[in-house]
Amino acid sequence: MISIEIVLDKNLNYKIMWIPITIDEYVKIHLQNNPNENEKVLRVRIEAALDDYNKGVKCKCGKDIWIVGSASAPFACFSCITGKELPLGDYEIDGALDKRDKDGRININNMDPGNINGFFDDDGYEIRRDTIKMQPLCLTCIRNNIDDWEGNLLCDMNRNDQRDEKEFKCGVYEKL
Ligand SMILES: [Zn+2]
Repeated sequence: MISIEIVLDKNLNYKIMWIPITIDEYVKIHLQNNPNENEKVLRVRIEAALDDYNKGVKCKCGKDIWIVGSASAPFACFSCITGKELPLGDYEIDGALDKRDKDGRININNMDPGNINGFFDDDGYEIRRDTIKMQPLCLTCIRNNIDDWEGNLLCDMNRNDQRDEKEFKCGVYEKL
């Protein structure tokens, strides 16, 4: 039995979008809900969808296909099958989540071009600003104490760029 607590925070994106599930677990649940379906046929459909997914076959809208949904519908993405924008605690076969966003992260390539906001890394994944580590240097900087959305964004980008560096450097540091 899989149970998961869905945590929502108004300021953030959905923390849990997909519930990863193995093919065997999904087949069991699906057959419990649809006792008249043939297990062999179901498995063949899942394998075929997964195969397409791994070959890079996309939904007609350009997004990744949703394996679980494609097992009972023509191969398509979550949005095209359900009409919902984003999954929220929906099942997806774990093998299909490896290549996609493991944590259900948002990728700019999957976003509606007319509605892109946020902050993305070089691979197109959204960077949640609340996950960027504050630097001790910044605490003594004038800029960190000014409420300036754009300025603060640039500081966040600088901190994010150097997240793996031992020593944090800043070209625009101004001591308080
Ligand atoms: Zn689609």
